[in-house]
Amino acid sequence: MQWFSFNRSRRCVYQFLCMASVIASTCSIGWAQADPAKPLTIVAYEGTPTIDGEIDDIWKKAPEAAVVKVVKSETSMPENELAKGKVQLLWDKDYLYALWQVKDAKLSASSSDDWAQDSIELFVDEKNQRAGEYQEDDAQYRVSYEGKLSGAGMGYDSKNVKAKAKKVEGGYVIEMSVKLSFAKREVGTKMGLDLQINDDPNTGSRGGISKWNHPENDSYQSTSNFGTVVLEGAPQKK
Ligand code: BGC
Ligand code: CA
Repeated sequence: MQWFSFNRSRRCVYQFLCMASVIASTCSIGWAQADPAKPLTIVAYEGTPTIDGEIDDIWKKAPEAAVVKVVKSETSMPENELAKGKVQLLWDKDYLYALWQVKDAKLSASSSDDWAQDSIELFVDEKNQRAGEYQEDDAQYRVSYEGKLSGAGMGYDSKNVKAKAKKVEGGYVIEMSVKLSFAKREVGTKMGLDLQINDDPNTGSRGGISKWNHPENDSYQSTSNFGTVVLEGAPQKK
């Protein structure tokens, strides 16, 4: 009896350790792959594109940010039909540039609310303070698929944004520039950033939102959950 229970408890300990290690490894894999709390980072290379809606060679090497996270609280349309896209970034001594390639099968700007039209939004926190409420260096820039500009936030000034929009097969392209005033325009600078796509599935209202970093409809009010853009030098020419 003694022997049996000793062995049994030893087996229990062994089983417990196995289970714990399986749980631990599963958890760590889960964390590495999809920690919703871990902000994303994207590199912007130094370079100056022409804002004309054409995808020039200068964009070719720029890393892509995938704007594919569904904001569930704001999405009533089927998720597989929700507009999604990719964004590439560049910078120079005055500007941050973004090239958006958006897949959106049904284009509409019939809502009277700018944010409910098919549109993209770029949120920037130049000083990277993530202070929550918008400050003088924080702004929200919006461009509709037709190229209409709008925005908000303490740091927003319509003079600081230029954009060219172009319809393409299955969606639209937007090339934009945002004037930087507070961030140091130098290699190594980090700014807070999030990216959003609003989709009207031809209903005259917003059917859903996709985001790059934080899958909540909070970026227009708070900089706390932005991802990060890091300024780097131009890539080496081969
Ligand atoms: C949000 C809208 C909000 C608008 C205000 C957008 O980013 O998704 O819900 O009304 O900003 O500018
Ligand atoms: Ca649409």
